[in-house]
Amino acid sequence: MFSSVWRSVETQLTSYYFRVQKLRTVGFRGMHSTLEDVKLNGFDVKILPALQDNYMYLIVDNKTREAAVVDPVDPDLVIKTAQAENLKLNKVLTTHHHWDHAGGNEKLVKLWSGGELDVYGGDDRIGAMNNKVRQNDTFNIGELNVRCLSTPCHTTGHICYHVTVPGEPNTGAVFTGDTLFQGGCGRFFEGTAEEMYAALCEKLSGLPDETKVFCGHEYTLQNMSFARHVEPDSVIIQNRIEWAKLKRASKDPTVPSTIAEEKSWNPFMRVNEAVVKKHAGTEEESGVATMGVLRKEKDTFKA
Ligand SMILES: [Zn+2]
Repeated sequence: MFSSVWRSVETQLTSYYFRVQKLRTVGFRGMHSTLEDVKLNGFDVKILPALQDNYMYLIVDNKTREAAVVDPVDPDLVIKTAQAENLKLNKVLTTHHHWDHAGGNEKLVKLWSGGELDVYGGDDRIGAMNNKVRQNDTFNIGELNVRCLSTPCHTTGHICYHVTVPGEPNTGAVFTGDTLFQGGCGRFFEGTAEEMYAALCEKLSGLPDETKVFCGHEYTLQNMSFARHVEPDSVIIQNRIEWAKLKRASKDPTVPSTIAEEKSWNPFMRVNEAVVKKHAGTEEESGVATMGVLRKEKDTFKA
């Protein structure tokens, strides 16, 4: 049985509501990262690596065992995991239409034998979508609350999903796709610096500090290298690089971070800081202008 090859080892205890369990299995040696189960207050997030450096996530409500999957580009792994863990998977949360995020939706809907799947997304280009959402739309995963944040720029229909337990707004998680990465942000394929500023520095910055950030790709080391280039004197960035190097040496995911951490090291969330403006040469200009300069520089930056 699939579950018998999973060996759970507790690796981290960072706070009373946040635990990580490593789910190692001989069968998945080809993956870019190990499978991990992050225990939050009231729900679990199972980190499932896919493709070269993508992450899919299973969000599991502890009370009801109802579950949602974020960006299931590899439906086979999603199905195996959901079945092995006896999850009532009934929702798909799509961050944006790019194939490495939405490309598994149709196959998952076809192959999943556990009942109807509600497929959420904010863009008509998303396959199998049957629930189009906009800013502040809400729905539930079991008893968990989900609020949609519209964050156009990487793509026009990009949605981030903020998941919380009722009555406990500070202990949630946000699934940020290709808008916010650890230490970085997505390319501006279909939007402007103004839109990314609104996404990162207003909407996502406005979430509670301890909100866990689960992003769409394992890009942390590359992003942090650029962050160090922007702020060479930052001890916080230096320390995170050392930490991430150790993690990646054993193929451990570097997700999640927190909103407070991103505000402390992510140059794209720090465009109003004097040191970042100085680097960009935009001391006399707005945070939006700084955002534009940084993204341009990052587009051609070699770590
Ligand atoms: Zn993308």
